[in-house]
Amino acid sequence: MPHIAVVGSGPSGVYTAQSLVQPGGLPGARVDVLDRLPCPYGLVRYGVAPDHEKIKSLQGTLRAVLQDERVRFLGGVEVGPALPPAKVLELYDAVVYCVGAAADRRLGIPGEDLPGSWSATDFVAWYSAHPDARDEGFVRGVRTAVAIGVGNVAVDVVRMLARGAAELMPTDMPQAALGALAASEVRDVYMVGRRGPSQARFTTKELRELGALPDTELIVEEAESALDGGYREPAGLPAAARRNVEVLRGWAGRPRRGAAHRIHLRFFLRPVEIVEGRGRVAGVRFERTRPDGLGGVSGTGTYEEVGAELVLRSVGYRGVPVEGLPFDAVRGTVPHAAGRVLRGGLVSPGEYVAGWIKRGPTGVIGTNRPCAKETVASLVADAPALIGARSARDPLEGLVAAGARPVEWDGWRAIERAEAALGASLGRGSVKIQDWAGLLGAAREDRRA
Ligand code: NAP
Repeated sequence: MPHIAVVGSGPSGVYTAQSLVQPGGLPGARVDVLDRLPCPYGLVRYGVAPDHEKIKSLQGTLRAVLQDERVRFLGGVEVGPALPPAKVLELYDAVVYCVGAAADRRLGIPGEDLPGSWSATDFVAWYSAHPDARDEGFVRGVRTAVAIGVGNVAVDVVRMLARGAAELMPTDMPQAALGALAASEVRDVYMVGRRGPSQARFTTKELRELGALPDTELIVEEAESALDGGYREPAGLPAAARRNVEVLRGWAGRPRRGAAHRIHLRFFLRPVEIVEGRGRVAGVRFERTRPDGLGGVSGTGTYEEVGAELVLRSVGYRGVPVEGLPFDAVRGTVPHAAGRVLRGGLVSPGEYVAGWIKRGPTGVIGTNRPCAKETVASLVADAPALIGARSARDPLEGLVAAGARPVEWDGWRAIERAEAALGASLGRGSVKIQDWAGLLGAAREDRRA
């Protein structure tokens, strides 16, 4: 019986497991889905904003796959120095790495590491209760915040900064983050793009949501946006960009109405320095840019400073190497051919990739389905040469012998019950546990019960 390991239980990992066991997949396959965290679902649990309940509900679909009798969730198992890829490949017929892109891209400008300048991924991890997240006191003493970048992550963090306690209360956000955001005095939030409105990466549905926030006004500077030919004449734009521009044009030039929160959508400003004052962030210095006629921008030599106590760098994710796997540091991905891992340019038998570590951090969750299918098609084609070489023992025995202490599905369900109990004790729905000890304690409590 072929036994395959999928490393990573986010959407790409779960879609890979699903493609392997469904008709057209690998006949007779058993799939272990390994994750370094004791909890499944990757960025659906730790990246999708807590107020995006509809997207979060995708967990139901992922759950059904992980509960399939041919699939086994093994949380708390990290492939890395203590359990190298070569060892995992000894235990399984094939291994598919779906480890995502866990780090953030850097701006490479002075002041980037000042206190008060954080990556959006740090902020997201904190309000999503990722057990590795640190409480940096993100919003303490902040009245003005700047998000650099105009992708969907920037829209998420801007929206979370503008949301009030009543809207956050029903989410599963950890109690400490809820308390901090509820008490925040943030009034002005800037979301700043280095190019024009028609080149923004956010999607229209996400953009529109900003306009629906209670007691919040949207500020778009008409003259600045109109530097973009696509903004002036949206008719010729691709549909997605045209819809974005139409929404922005609808907000431009609206009279101010004195709402509690103001979201400023700024364009043609590229960050050149995070400015320091009293040892921490005091603002961002931008150079004004103009379109270069080729889709990019050029500097104008004129500058503008936006004063702020908080800067969230939201310029994209970056893949992180898995020790023992090849890595293309420029792209932040594992080199591959149709999902087959390449070592020194040659296919490494039995090793595959899918998701962001394969194609880079782009696309929506659904993009991972065809990506996983392509990888599984490669694996199925290669299967005759792969299957049967390993010992017939259950790979779980080998993982445990190598020092792993997996959290199986029952352990995860115990965490879910503990989170429901925590929420009930706080008069809320389910509330996420935010530390390793709490998660592992809940998972292992189940074994003792
Ligand atoms: P993204 O979509 O790649 O956007 C990155 C933004 O950062 C772009 O505006 C980019 O501008 C800007 N940027 C990059 N380098 C910069 C620099 N040096 N200086 C100034 N700006 C810079 O990345 P993301 O927002 O992290 O999103 C990652 C993926 O997750 C996307 O596919 C996104 O759609 C997805 N996602 C989806 C949702 C949702 O569906 N609700 C939520 C969150 C994330 P340029 O275009 O000029 O490079």
